[in-house]
This record gives sequence, C-alpha cells and structure tokens, in this order.
Amino acid sequence: MTSTLAPRVETAPAPESLPRLLSEVPRSWRDLVSHRRRAGVLPEVRREPRPDLIQAVERAGLRGKGGGAFSTAHKMEAVAAGAGRAVVVVNGAEGEPASGKDKLLLVRAPHLVLDGALAAAAAVGADQVVVAVDRHASEALDSVRRALGERLSYEPAPIPMRLVAVPTHYVSGEETALVRWLNGGEAKPTNTARPFERGVARRPTLLDNVETLAHVAQIVRWGPGWFRTVGTPNEPGSTLISLSGAVARPAVYEVPLGASLARVLEQSGGRLDQISAVLVGGYFGTWLTADNAAEARLSCEDLARFGSDLGCGVVIALPREACGVVESARVLSWLASSTAGQCGSCVHGLASIADTTGAVARGRAPRDAALQLMRWAEQIEGRGACRLPDGAARFLRSSLAAFQHEVDRHLRGAHCGQAPHVLPLPNPVRDSWR
Ligand code: SF4
Repeated sequence: MTSTLAPRVETAPAPESLPRLLSEVPRSWRDLVSHRRRAGVLPEVRREPRPDLIQAVERAGLRGKGGGAFSTAHKMEAVAAGAGRAVVVVNGAEGEPASGKDKLLLVRAPHLVLDGALAAAAAVGADQVVVAVDRHASEALDSVRRALGERLSYEPAPIPMRLVAVPTHYVSGEETALVRWLNGGEAKPTNTARPFERGVARRPTLLDNVETLAHVAQIVRWGPGWFRTVGTPNEPGSTLISLSGAVARPAVYEVPLGASLARVLEQSGGRLDQISAVLVGGYFGTWLTADNAAEARLSCEDLARFGSDLGCGVVIALPREACGVVESARVLSWLASSTAGQCGSCVHGLASIADTTGAVARGRAPRDAALQLMRWAEQIEGRGACRLPDGAARFLRSSLAAFQHEVDRHLRGAHCGQAPHVLPLPNPVRDSWR
C-alpha cells in the first residue's frame, strides 16, 4: 500500500570506528526503515545549489573513489556554477575486472548510495538523478530497483531518480562515454566538452562514483569533523579496497586512508614472504615490489613515493609461484581487447604492445623488446580520447621495472609455462556499445 508518510525512526549515532560504509552490511539493514534508523533524514533539495553542503564536503577533504582522486567538492562547485539546472549521475559501471566495491555497496547499502546522490543533488541544485549500473551486474541492478521502489512506496521522491543499465565495457564508465551513452550514443569516450559544463541533455552534470556518494551521504549527516577522525590530515576518511590474490580471505575491506599495506595483507591472511609483488590501483595501476609493499601505506600521498596511487582501490597480491611477466602480458592483452576502436594510437599501439609482451612471456621476443616496449609506451601516451592508452603505458612501465630480472630471463629465452594465472580477467566482451 502506498503511504505519503516517511518511516518514523530514531537516528543512530555516528559510527565511532570502522567499518563506516560497510556497517550497513547486515541484510536486516538493507531496507529503508532500518537504513533511516541508522542514517537519519536527508538535506532538502532546492532549486538553487547549497554552498553549505559543498563546504561540508570540502572541509571533509573527500576525494573521488573512481580512480582520479579529484576533490569531490571542487567537482560540485564546477557543476553548481554551470549554466542551467544540473543532473547527478551515480557512476556504477565499475568496469575494472578486479574491483567489486561499488557493486557490493549497491547490493548491501543501496539506500546509503541513493542518499549520497540526493545530497549531491541538493549541493549542486540538480533536478534529477540517474543511477548507472553495469547491465550484467544483475544483483546490483535488482538491489537498486528494489530500493527505488521502496522509497516511492513511502514518500514521493524529492526529485526523479531513474536506474539505467549500461553496456559492459572497460571504458563505459569513463565519464564522457557514460554521458554520450545517456544522450543516446555509444558508450565510447569523446574529447568534446567535459560533463561538468555540458553533460546529460547538454546540462551541467555531476558524475560521481558509487563509493564517493556513499561517503557524501555520511559527511552531510555526521559532519566533516567526524569524517576526519580517521585517515591522514591530507587524505581523511576511510576507503574501500578490493583485495585479492595471495591472501586467505580475498574480499572488499574498508580501511583508514594511510593504513599500512603490509598490515592489511597480513590481516586478510597474506604473508609478505610468500608474495613477490603487489598490484595497486587496478589495471591502470602499478606494481609494487615486495620490499616496497612492506613499507607502503594506502594513501595517494605515500604511494606517490613509488610512482603509484590508490586508483580505484584494487589491491592484488602476486604469489611467489606466479610469474609477473606472464600476468602483466595477460593484462596488457586484455587492455588491448578493451579499446573502443576510435583512436589509432590506442588500437594499433596497444595491439603491438600486447603482441610483444605476449612474446616476452613465451620467451620468444627479440632481445631489444623491452626497449621497443618503452618507446611504444611513450608514443601512445596522451594520444587517446580517453585514458586507456595512458593507463596501459603506466602499467607497462611499472611491469618492466618491477619484474626487471624476470623480463631479462624471458628475453634470454626462458619462460614460465606452468605458472598459475592469478589476476582476474573476464572473457573478451561481446556486449554492444549501445
Ligand atoms: S583511447 Fe582507446 S579506448 Fe579511449 S576513446 Fe580512443 S580508442 Fe577508445
């Protein structure tokens, strides 16, 4: 039965320790009444932007969790200053194969994400929210659909919110690709206007990752001071990491920013003496040698010492019995197959890199292959309409540096035929671009 009354509930106090986002995990808390009990009511969405909300996000120091780590408040300011009424897009495409945090949040805490989207809409003065989820992530789609329906059964939505299922491609979640698709085109990146200026329906558009918006919901509710009680002064708060590989308990973990990587690995059942390297930041990310991993902390500031950053929060521990050269070649081959086929340097450059790294892995490459690969990395960088070539070049350079000795052995004709495959890679995508 439809009621115009919102569920009347008492609000629980702010969580004093981690987990914060994942404290909404128990199944019994996924419904709206339980969520409201925990999370309280939302700020009002008005026609005009709400600078007070943007300032709260600014004071919290929140950075985006989709890979770029941009200041969330600065993005909001740019959208709020745009001409015309804004649109908010919840980016739940999560094309990174080893990442599962956004789908997990959508399944286990959909109302928290929707609250974050509405808070962001209030901040920038938006009059609609679009929730974009990978069209093959059926559990996440069902969860959001149910949550939206549940809200409507209690109260009219302050602004329209709709769910869309986006094509399954690595680059579908790139912001210009997502906007292009929402405007009726293919889910391929473009290098025309940035979405904050001219996005969905040519209106200023705020695209934020699922996890980012879940943090926004909590900041608006419990304040920037509370948010900063964990993390580091320059990178406050917690972050979700999708941890897999040589650990006993692969899962999505919520950690304070600045946490020791070695400690996180140990607490999830990994042993540094059985790990040869750690991939941080996903397939646009970088390899840390075991020595560097022992020292590193999970913040962009600390990881910069190793030329790395948190990216989308993927962390994969490579066991000693696996081969970093083979694993890197597999990833580069997958990245090459993920091209949107629009830019010559991406299509041809990535194909050449994938062929040659594959030959290195098989012990069949010419002795100067590493030099040739470095040259190609330089040539493709900055040459695509999106960051796929840049990400691949960065990953390639990091592979050649972290596995320098193994690469030398392979270039002398050795190969690791029986090495187990560790990095998760989906089958090549057959989905359409529309
Ligand atoms: S760089 Fe590659 S993936 Fe990006 S738009 Fe160009 S062809 Fe597509």
